[in-house]
Amino acid sequence: MGVRNRDISQNGHTQAEYSSSSSGEKRAGGRLSGWSSPLLAFQDLPAWLRDNEFLLHSHRPELSSFTECGKTLFRLHTETCNIWTHILGCFLFTCILVYHCSLPSPLFEKVAFSTFYVGAIICLGLSSTFHTFTCHSHEVAKLFAKLDYCGVIALVVMSSVPWIYYGFYCQEVLKVTYISFMTVCGVVCIALVLQDKFSAPQYRSLRAGLFVALGLTGLVPGSHLFLQEGFLQTFHFMSWLYLMAVLYIGGAVIYAVRIPERLMPGSFDIWGHSHQILHICVVVAALSCFVGLHLLSTIRTEEDYTCEKTIA
Ligand SMILES: [Zn+2]
Repeated sequence: MGVRNRDISQNGHTQAEYSSSSSGEKRAGGRLSGWSSPLLAFQDLPAWLRDNEFLLHSHRPELSSFTECGKTLFRLHTETCNIWTHILGCFLFTCILVYHCSLPSPLFEKVAFSTFYVGAIICLGLSSTFHTFTCHSHEVAKLFAKLDYCGVIALVVMSSVPWIYYGFYCQEVLKVTYISFMTVCGVVCIALVLQDKFSAPQYRSLRAGLFVALGLTGLVPGSHLFLQEGFLQTFHFMSWLYLMAVLYIGGAVIYAVRIPERLMPGSFDIWGHSHQILHICVVVAALSCFVGLHLLSTIRTEEDYTCEKTIA
């Protein structure tokens, strides 16, 4: 389904009006205003800000100022939900981290869980930062996009640490091996996402595929644990981790195919487009991981649990 060409953006401003408005504001205040500058139609955006042609209106203009970009947090536009879903998720995991660190648990267990929480905070924090400041300038957008991708990789790798730690609770060599394996996979992915080309709109499916592939590397230790402990033993905590995987993969597929906005261009510009669905999937997946990890750690730290039970 194609995109209709329009000369007038949703709020009624033509490109000519926008240009005169922006030059007027530039005369008055030195730059465009994050509060009041007209939002733009997709076709009026500079080439580097054109990411999703199925979102027809309500795009922020290039603002060239971190302060002005920050002000757009409190306006409705194509990025508002992307920003706030991950700001709220970041705040939630920060609270969980602070609470967990205040508990009187052993140091190693604190470190294992905190690694996951910090991974979630890095991912959600960098993502909301990217979406807030992506309208600053091309250079800033490129830099923050790379940080956003690195945040996703940090979450996938760092969330694997506690469940490998508790999954192979009594098997030090396997613990170290699998955490090292996930770390190496993460480093390889970071080397790829730091390439300039990786952020281009035409590589959307490649990006989604890379993150799904990285997530699927967790199947290696996951399958080992499944075979080692059996279906019934692993079902009640692994089911939460499988739900996490389904949410990550489902969100990535929706992001890659850009549904629902592809089906009705212009109808999901502010609410309900694929990137927002991906963001919500990421937060819910991280919470699902949180529940599964607590079930697993409870089993491993029960008073009658001994390592002899699991080592053949
Ligand atoms: Zn995003």
